[in-house]
Amino acid sequence: MSAALTAANRNKTVLLLGSRDMSEKIVKAHEIRNYPGLPAVKGTEMAEAFRNHLEKAGITITEGRVGAVYAMGDYFALQIGEEMREAKAVILATGVVNANPLPGEKELLGRGVSYCATCDAPLYRGKSAAVIGYSPREEAEAVFLSEVCSDVTYFPVYREETNLPEKVQVIREKVTGIVQEGGKRIVRTENGEYRTDGVFVLREAVAPDNLVPGLETEGAHVKVNRKMETNLPGVFAAGDLTGLPYQYVKAAGEGNVAAISAAQYLDQLR
Ligand SMILES: Cc1cc2nc3c(=O)[nH]c(=O)nc-3n(C[C@H](O)[C@H](O)[C@H](O)COP(=O)(O)OP(=O)(O)OC[C@H]3O[C@@H](n4cnc5c(N)ncnc54)[C@H](O)[C@@H]3O)c2cc1C
Repeated sequence: MSAALTAANRNKTVLLLGSRDMSEKIVKAHEIRNYPGLPAVKGTEMAEAFRNHLEKAGITITEGRVGAVYAMGDYFALQIGEEMREAKAVILATGVVNANPLPGEKELLGRGVSYCATCDAPLYRGKSAAVIGYSPREEAEAVFLSEVCSDVTYFPVYREETNLPEKVQVIREKVTGIVQEGGKRIVRTENGEYRTDGVFVLREAVAPDNLVPGLETEGAHVKVNRKMETNLPGVFAAGDLTGLPYQYVKAAGEGNVAAISAAQYLDQLR
């Protein structure tokens, strides 16, 4: 948001992709005491303040999850479900992936394991799918898959009650890994094994180098310099994604720097 506000201030056309809830973290934050100008504010209140600010600046949040960002030479192609959007520069502020990949997840990615229901659901039309959802927001994806697939099994990796239609089978067991066997995928849990065609592992954020091929990372974080530039010209990063400490004010500051750098980059292109 901070990056979007600064880029708009610099007269750049901004496409802000994400969620109107802002982020799972801000919804969960009980009370934030160290954000300047907003003393002892609840996460939901802070999100509201940010939404108002965006609205005043004429910026709307486009609901959508980016599946991949491809460098196309002088522009970037962003895959959002079945749609493609183009941008001259990209600022990544996707937060950090807290969870380690499940055993088998990385090995089977693109071979029966997917991070994007909207992108890959057509591959499983009439077949079975399992969804490993790391936040209640992923339930919408399971519902969407249940309209396309013959059956859907949902493994919630959170405590909240699920709110899913009966046709989605909910299994509250700790997932321990994914394996491939005779053309099928098997979701292994502490209590059993579940055979399926496709496994969707849906987290708030995917590993950044999976999102942007060729992006240099250090563990879960994207490597950036003080201008928030990544190793890929035209790609900038800000927030938790660039490393510790995980703080709102740091994320906002980095978003500001990333947007100024992106604006300079765009001006140079011209
Ligand atoms: C319970 C809790 C309490 C906290 N309390 C404090 C506090 O008191 N003070 C403080 O400074 N910090 C606090 N934090 C830390 C703070 O929440 C983070 O530092 C901050 O949210 C980082 O912002 P971010 O924009 O980098 O990432 P996030 O807030 O994680 O936002 C990333 C956004 O990107 C979206 N996204 C991810 N991938 C994609 C994609 N492929 N396509 C489209 N959108 C995508 C996500 O849905 C999300 O909306 C707290 C965190 C938690 C969990």
